[in-house]
Amino acid sequence: MSNPSLSTRSGSTVHDLDTVVDFALTHGLIKRADDSGVSHSPVTLQPCPIDAWTCAAMRDVTAPFNRLAHDVANDLVFLREALAHVVTTDEFTRRLLELAQTRASAQPWRFAITRSDYFLQADSAREHPLIRQVELNTIAASYLGLAGAVTRFHQSLLSLAPTRGRLVPNDPLATVARAFADVFAHYGHDDACVLMVVQPDERNVFDQRLLEIALAAHGIPVERAALETIGEHAVLRDGHLTLNGRIAAITYFRAGYRPQDLQTEIAWTARARIEASSTISVPDIALQLSGTKKVQQLLTKPAVLRAFCTEDDAQMLEATFAGMFTLEQPIQSQDPEHRDTQSAWQDAIHHPDRYVLKPQREGGGFNFYGDHMAQHLARLTPEQRDAYVLMERIRPIQHTATCLADGRLSHGPVVSEIGRFGVLFARGDEVGFNRDAGYLVRTKHTDANEGGVSSGAGHLDSLRETTIDSANP
Ligand code: ADP
Ligand code: MG
Repeated sequence: MSNPSLSTRSGSTVHDLDTVVDFALTHGLIKRADDSGVSHSPVTLQPCPIDAWTCAAMRDVTAPFNRLAHDVANDLVFLREALAHVVTTDEFTRRLLELAQTRASAQPWRFAITRSDYFLQADSAREHPLIRQVELNTIAASYLGLAGAVTRFHQSLLSLAPTRGRLVPNDPLATVARAFADVFAHYGHDDACVLMVVQPDERNVFDQRLLEIALAAHGIPVERAALETIGEHAVLRDGHLTLNGRIAAITYFRAGYRPQDLQTEIAWTARARIEASSTISVPDIALQLSGTKKVQQLLTKPAVLRAFCTEDDAQMLEATFAGMFTLEQPIQSQDPEHRDTQSAWQDAIHHPDRYVLKPQREGGGFNFYGDHMAQHLARLTPEQRDAYVLMERIRPIQHTATCLADGRLSHGPVVSEIGRFGVLFARGDEVGFNRDAGYLVRTKHTDANEGGVSSGAGHLDSLRETTIDSANP
């Protein structure tokens, strides 16, 4: 990775570093810095290439994935069986499941804001790359504000240095805010608010503020509160969740997916109270659990998937699945020296480069890769193994990009993870809306395992539609 310090080449023109940083800041691509000041978000300077067919195919799979998550969430018996082994060692998931079972959401309507993340993988047998799902996020799907900002940032840079192809329009914030407005109207209390559940140490706060501002434009006020505050101050009034005298029509979680968010009993009280009220929570606990990695692994089994969707949808979704296994699962090794059947656990120890090991956690930074994974696998007791799933390691298409992070530019080979936002509003089989809501691209240098923007390795990016040849360098 070269490290030009003053300028970089994008298309045919050299960008000046100050201009690029100014543009990023002016477009609101910002995050809280260590010193509680503000710095620009890590971004790329050129949009990621994608062919139009693949771009459309990714968008078209959003609604079926939303519907699948909704139908899985409606099946508490399935969720209980799916997570039965995980909960023996994972206290956080155990308590969530217990809450979902003892206090199934008091609100029959479900509002989901999802993001399904994919890599593109080259396939010599096909005209188009394979679309391979990394995971479906059903709670706190972030960057719906900054994703549109980076597309506008790229638009500004492209006006200075035009490049081939068309920037793919992207405004998840507008679509999601409209969905909020529709759901808010459905709740039917004009003087209510949206309660945004936040983490006190959140750095990606401006992404959330953008949503707050977009909702204000719809005349919807937002209250921000941590679970502890909700536990201490929110009450149930005629079934409504009420904080500071105001009804929360919608409770939108940007927290609550990690054990640190629910460390105290008062935080659990808040989670239970939200679920017991008529507030429309995004997500309710069952939907949160339907996005767990264990459920994702089970849905890769053809019969399990078909219990929840039509054959047509099943084939469409399956086309995006990477292999997922329990550690005990017998698999046929591709290794000539171990031709006989062995457990996925053994195969992963022999071939750590072929897998990613995932514990039941969300939020980035928990997975195991390579030799570190093999060492970790070797130490796990059989009981502990149940809390993990193994996933085939996806080898994404590489391209080249200039990245800006911490005021410095670097240029080199990168891979891009493309997420599609989706919104769904449904009650049982009755669907108010279910649609794609735009995209998020996070681009990382090829030597980074994980691509989280908040955790440091990922750069916000956007998409440029190209011909197939130039999209697959
Ligand atoms: P989390 O809930 O922590 O976000 P993910 O499943 O999204 O968990 O994994 C985090 C990151 O790890 C992804 O964003 C991606 O960069 C990388 N990753 C996850 N699964 C795979 C895979 N099967 N192959 C390659 N990289 C992966
Ligand atoms: Mg993820």
